[in-house]
Amino acid sequence: MTPIDLTAAELLGRLESGELTSTAVAQSFLDRIERHDRAIGAFLRVDGESALAKAADVDRRRKAGEPVGRLAGLPVAVKDVLCAAGELTTCASRMLAGFRPPYDATVVARLKAADAVLIGRTNMDEFAMGGSTENSAFQPTRNPWDLDRIPGGSSGGSAAAVAASMAPLCVGTDTGGSIRQPAGLCGVVGMKPTYGRVSRYGLVAFASSLDQIGPLAHTVEDAALLLEVLAGHDPLDSTSVDRPVPPYAERVGQPLEGLRIGVVPEHFGQGLDAEVEAAVREAIDVYRSLGATVREVSLPHSKYAVATYYVIAPCEASSNLARYDGVHYGHRTDTRAMAAELEAERAAQLRSGDSAAAEDLDSPLVRMFRRTRAEGFGAEVKRRIMLGTYALSAGYYDAYYLKALKVRRLIRQDFDEAFKEVDLIAGPVAPAPAFKLGEKIDDPLAMYLFDLYTVVTNLAGICGISVPCGFSKSGLPIGLHLQAAPFEEERLLRGAAMYQRETDWHEKRPEAR
Ligand code: GLN
Repeated sequence: MTPIDLTAAELLGRLESGELTSTAVAQSFLDRIERHDRAIGAFLRVDGESALAKAADVDRRRKAGEPVGRLAGLPVAVKDVLCAAGELTTCASRMLAGFRPPYDATVVARLKAADAVLIGRTNMDEFAMGGSTENSAFQPTRNPWDLDRIPGGSSGGSAAAVAASMAPLCVGTDTGGSIRQPAGLCGVVGMKPTYGRVSRYGLVAFASSLDQIGPLAHTVEDAALLLEVLAGHDPLDSTSVDRPVPPYAERVGQPLEGLRIGVVPEHFGQGLDAEVEAAVREAIDVYRSLGATVREVSLPHSKYAVATYYVIAPCEASSNLARYDGVHYGHRTDTRAMAAELEAERAAQLRSGDSAAAEDLDSPLVRMFRRTRAEGFGAEVKRRIMLGTYALSAGYYDAYYLKALKVRRLIRQDFDEAFKEVDLIAGPVAPAPAFKLGEKIDDPLAMYLFDLYTVVTNLAGICGISVPCGFSKSGLPIGLHLQAAPFEEERLLRGAAMYQRETDWHEKRPEAR
């Protein structure tokens, strides 16, 4: 087996035993990217030179018997929404096309301290808004299982990179499903930790009360390993929680005794693809065969989740994205062209004798804001800013934003009740396998409805994971969604690993094209 076929845990074992060098491992993933990413488009940038330099450094230190970090020599790709000092961090937006942050996100700093080999930055929906990665300002990403289809989103680049064996580990972010949904559609493992488990410092904000960073990998064990490095309290993020990080990787192999699985009848309602339903029901039967008890639980307010999410997330986005004004950082419109434009408009209005209209023209400052934002943001981002600004405006705030917050609380209470009865809630991660590129791009509502199973996790602030649980007849991956109570990541991972041990879906890799 070549390094690209191995899991992160297997690679680490061979690196530690000296069977493989970090340099050889990095080189084989870089070669793979070189050969296959033209067709897939998972990466926005590949950092071959710095990756090989880091790998050589790890090799040297290992050989000399010096201490090395937890991920020493393992290639990791990072979604382009996480700041890395001095390196482009674009959020797949024209707004940040030339942005080089002066500092590392905490998770990037932790990866560096763990001696991971950072190989590149993965594509995403612009500012993580979307579910197909088609909203990237730079390129679409294609699903490695079928190049005519989307990889899911917004961490579609990360999921496709793992699925196509271009990186053994990736870091993504999940505001309403953006790790779990693409993981499901690409046949890999993706996990959203509890809100507060991983520091958001240096994560470019989309919706701050929902955003979380998490791992994508081939196996639950690999996800556990990466989460262990990412997780933990950070004084730089006041919403990160000061709780010890359990040794996930060490414990992930321990089965859970007396496991109680909850199934939500509404998850299997109208709109769920029949093949997805069959695969998920079979996965639940696997738990039964392992001795788990399966019982129905009710999440009565989940039917409002998509509506609630698409009020709260755009509200927070409209506020967070106000900072892109062409003054502080990021794109600024061509101010000379702008001044000429204003001058021409003024002259035309004066010529037509309408001096009042000429007075009403934007000030140069306001025109600079307008042009900068019009040029810098894509259509979906503008749609969210408008939705959010509207819902937060005087007169609508109570009816939309405040109402949504109240429903959010009820959604959380439903989960609190459910988790008194069960340890994990199992269901589909997405209502259907990956759709075709372009299929939903002109229908934002259809795109939003595809999120119905994942947005609840973020609204409730709990944790969830997607694990491969089958394929459609046409060969598209299907994901099983498991959710657990806040800070029960260990239980979630151990429960997911129990299923994975009984099945081999996670071992399937798409044919190299
Ligand atoms: N698809 C959802 C959205 O468009 C979730 C995005 C995310 O989790 N970043 O908002």
